[in-house]
Amino acid sequence: MAGAAARSRRDPAGIRLVAVTKTFPATAIREAYALGLREFGENYVQEFETKVPALADLTGTRYHLIGHLQSNKAGKAAELFEVVQTVDSPRLARRLGQSTRVIDVMLEVKLSTEQSKSGAAPEELPELIAAVRGCPALSLTGLMTVPPWQDDPEASRPCFRRLRELAQLHGLTGLSMGMSHDLEVAIEEGATCIRVGSALFGDRGKA
Ligand SMILES: *Cc1c(COP(=O)(O)O)cnc(C)c1O
Repeated sequence: MAGAAARSRRDPAGIRLVAVTKTFPATAIREAYALGLREFGENYVQEFETKVPALADLTGTRYHLIGHLQSNKAGKAAELFEVVQTVDSPRLARRLGQSTRVIDVMLEVKLSTEQSKSGAAPEELPELIAAVRGCPALSLTGLMTVPPWQDDPEASRPCFRRLRELAQLHGLTGLSMGMSHDLEVAIEEGATCIRVGSALFGDRGKA
């Protein structure tokens, strides 16, 4: 992170490290917390719910939902997560917007046809932004994307650049992009939030 920030003449303080703990037990979160990490990413509402009781005494944490969210789990997600990075439909935004506390929201954008089904198309953003802004309980902070997996981290660069351009176009500043293998490229392209799992916690093993 420091190297990529220096190369791109960026202040490392402007880049948030979200430690991705999916498939790892609550003890992994506690160990990372003891080392100073405060932001954690989880993919599944139900999986995280099982870890929450073991984390109740940790203060100052921010939990990010980074996996696809179904509308019927929006209420539970709003209770458990401070940030939902994967809002991709006006319907989901309105469900989350019924939350009684304010949560930060990022819009997941799908930038290539090889990407999984989740994520809004760039041309859907104006409607989605309006839907989120129409909900007082939602604070819109930026855009998020997951490029199709490719071994070469440079292959992610066009997606990252496109996300930055889209954010600029819509007047948004937050950019959640970059994972273990391509975080340096993401930082060079302006990431304000990187989501890192295996580089911190080791292999999850492929399901
Ligand atoms: C699992 C996951 C990550 C972390 O991936 P690593 O390659 O382990 O760093 C980041 N973002 C999302 C959306 C994920 O699902």
